Amino acid sequence: MKALWIVPLFALTVCSGCALYHTKQAPQAPLKNISQYSANTSTPDLLQGSEGKVRNPHPLSLADLRAKYKSIFLLSGSPSKREVALTFDDAPDDHFTPRILDVLKHEGVKATFFVVGNRLEAHPDIVRRMVKEGHIIGNHSYDHANLPKLSDADFQNQVVKTDHLIRMISGYKPTFIRPPYGNISEQQIKWLASKHKVIVNWNVDSLDWKGLNAEQVKTNIFAQAQPGSIILQHAAGGTGEDLSGTVQALPDIIHNFRNNGVKLVTVPELLDLPKGK
Ligand SMILES: [Zn+2]
Repeated sequence: MKALWIVPLFALTVCSGCALYHTKQAPQAPLKNISQYSANTSTPDLLQGSEGKVRNPHPLSLADLRAKYKSIFLLSGSPSKREVALTFDDAPDDHFTPRILDVLKHEGVKATFFVVGNRLEAHPDIVRRMVKEGHIIGNHSYDHANLPKLSDADFQNQVVKTDHLIRMISGYKPTFIRPPYGNISEQQIKWLASKHKVIVNWNVDSLDWKGLNAEQVKTNIFAQAQPGSIILQHAAGGTGEDLSGTVQALPDIIHNFRNNGVKLVTVPELLDLPKGK
């Protein structure tokens, strides 16, 4: 279905561009002897260099960044073992998170929670419970900011402050960070690398934040899951977001993986990295 509407839209865009070109722009002669311009030294040079050099005209896409920094920007683990990691973002709240913890406890599964700092401050007991029940805590920023929009100082503060809060409760500063919305800039990746952090996104998106029912959540997960997958679900939402589907689907998700010989592990187990220090 997707391809059916993307193709006409794309064709329309190209055609309208063509029409614009043919009606308003005459073909231009190729530039020759461009060295003549650079040889003219009567115009003072721009202090910091040309616009094209100083601005980044082609910022790398998230896909490019993952390829460039593949040792520290991860979406999945090794496909050689029949293991997957359940991960839950945006926790804690005092409604959905305890219900998810109840299911995980009942089933004997350890998961990884990417917590939001100001929510941890609001519900520290729930994060204490996560730690006590053997789950792993990762950093999901202080207030769920879209990190590439922040100044360096504000970005670093989001990470450091939340690390501090997590350490107060778990006893470790987490190795793993998941940027809100999965968004991160190259400069931010470099800074995280200098702090020995590992960025963990996902390769299976349940899309549970859309308020899907349990069947839809299960369908999304099992359509994409493969050995080594990191599965994204949410243990708390934004205002009005209903995560009942994730809570109700969780027992079946666990049983289905186990019935197929797939072990449910935490992110540090899947990636063979320390949880923190
Ligand atoms: Zn989030």
